Formats: sequence, C-alpha cells, structure tokens
Amino acid sequence: MSEATEGGGQGAPDDVAVDADALSATSDVDLSQEYPLQVDDLHKSFGGITAVDGATFQVERGSLTGLIGPNGAGKSTTFNLITGMYDPDSGSVTFNGEDITGLEPHEVANRGLVRTFQIARELKEMTVLENMMLAPKGQVGESLWRSVTPGVRGRVVEQEEELLERAWETLEFFEIDHIAEEYAGNLSGGQRKLLEMARALLTDPDMLLLDEPFAGVNPSLEKRLLEHIHELREQGYTFLLVEHDMDLIMNNCEHVIVLHQGRVLTEGTPAEIKSDEEVIEAYLGGNV
Ligand code: ADP
Ligand code: MG
Repeated sequence: MSEATEGGGQGAPDDVAVDADALSATSDVDLSQEYPLQVDDLHKSFGGITAVDGATFQVERGSLTGLIGPNGAGKSTTFNLITGMYDPDSGSVTFNGEDITGLEPHEVANRGLVRTFQIARELKEMTVLENMMLAPKGQVGESLWRSVTPGVRGRVVEQEEELLERAWETLEFFEIDHIAEEYAGNLSGGQRKLLEMARALLTDPDMLLLDEPFAGVNPSLEKRLLEHIHELREQGYTFLLVEHDMDLIMNNCEHVIVLHQGRVLTEGTPAEIKSDEEVIEAYLGGNV
C-alpha cells in the first residue's frame, strides 16, 4: 500500500521545485532551533482507516534520525503530511520555528525541507543533467521569462549559470557526473537513487526526508549512498530516514523513532530501541 501512498509524489517533479529567490533565501532561515522539525499530534484518516494517529516527535539538527515501524505503521503518510502532500486532519508541523502545517509541497521545499521523489516517467526520457536543471528551477524559468523586464532577465541568466555549476558539483559529489548525458531511464536502480538525492540536494535544503532510499540498490551503491549521507550530515544537513533494514538503521542512525499504528511507540538510541520489549512486540508479535 505504501507504493500507492507514495504514488501521489511520483511523477510530480514540480513538488521539489524551488523558486530562484528561495535558493538563496534558505540561508536566511532560523537555524537557531536545535530541533528544526517538530511534529505535534498529527492525525490523518482515509475513510475508515486511521493512518496517522497522534504522531508526535522532533528531529535534532544535524542528526541522521531513523523512522521505523511495521508495514502500514504510517511512515509514508507521516512524510506526506510533513511535506504538504496531504493536509492533516489535525495536529501541526513546525520547521525552523515556523508553522508549516497545510503548506503546499513547493512552499515546504522552499523553506528547506524536501523529500526525494522517484524520477517520473517523462523525466526518464531526459538526461541526468537535464533532470538536474529541472529540479530546482521549477516554475521560475517559466513565470519569470514570460513576465519580467530585460534587466531581470540578466539576473535569471546568471542564476541559470550558477545552477548549472551547482548541478555539476552535485553530480560530482555523488560520483554520477560521468553519466550526465545518459538518459535517466537507462540508469540502474542505484544510480537512479543517487540522482533522486542529487536533485533533492540541488534545491538547497536544510533537511531531507528519505523514504526507503536503498530499495533496489545493490550493496556497493548502498554503501556509497550511506557514505554520502554521513558526509552531508557532517556538513550540517539533517536527515530523517525510513528504512526496513534494521541493521542499517541501528548501525547508522544516532536516534531512532518507532512508529506503530500511526503513533510513536518509543524512541531512543539504537541500543535502547534494540532492548525495548515493546518494539520487539510490535515487530514480531511478541514471539521472541
Ligand atoms: P507505512 O509507510 O508505514 O508502511 P503508510 O503510511 O503507507 O504506512 O500507510 C498507513 C496506513 O494508511 C495503511 O493502512 C495504508 O493502507 C493507509 N493509507 C495510506 N495512504 C492511503 C491512501 N491514500 N488512501 C487510503 N489508505 C491509505
Ligand atoms: Mg511506506
């Protein structure tokens, strides 16, 4: 079901679109908050199904925090609520001290909070570099080109050049610059994941939400992707990671939040989580 849930985001590259002003504006945000993301008492039902039922947690700046829980626990829905794909029935999401509940996905992205999206079908017929150039430019190119005076056009050209430079730097960082001219549709599963992350990074975020970024990724690329995540974290980026592989979570996250039936069952360090009876119960029905 999680595939269908996330489907709303796939094929919607504009959701990660950030306008040109926002590319520089993210450096103005209030970085004094120790916990940039605060989720408070979120609720979301679909018909009779309660997907998120009072989820409350916060994520520490610069951390790699894991969000785990059995299938159907509400992890993807929580991501969708945080990033504006869905409006919550109640509760709030605060980012860098600002209430962002109910904002549109691009407004959330403009504030520096992004999630990765699978490369949409139409984008598979474009090259890796073209995908990168589309990511953050979004509607800016269109709306500005149509309406602005020539003087401002010069600024847009400058921004395009700057964007191209950053696109190359980001491709180099992820070691996929050698496939810049390759069609996105021809990439391996792992390379596509790297591109998805590169696209998200190009929007100049403070925080990234990763929903099962290692699905379909071979072990050596998984290792590389993890190294990149750690490197970015050391640079100050904050990560919230949904991942099924418990070993991966326990070996890489400093803090783990366990979601069960749409609410936080418990949270703590990997060591604390591993020895938590309730977690064992939730995952394995107590058969331990
Ligand atoms: P997880 O990502 O933890 O596996 P989800 O957030 O995808 O869980 O799903 C939580 C619950 O909400 C599941 O029971 C799922 O079937 C339901 N759900 C999620 N999205 C929708 C939707 N768009 N319509 C109906 N039910 C949904
Ligand atoms: Mg899911």
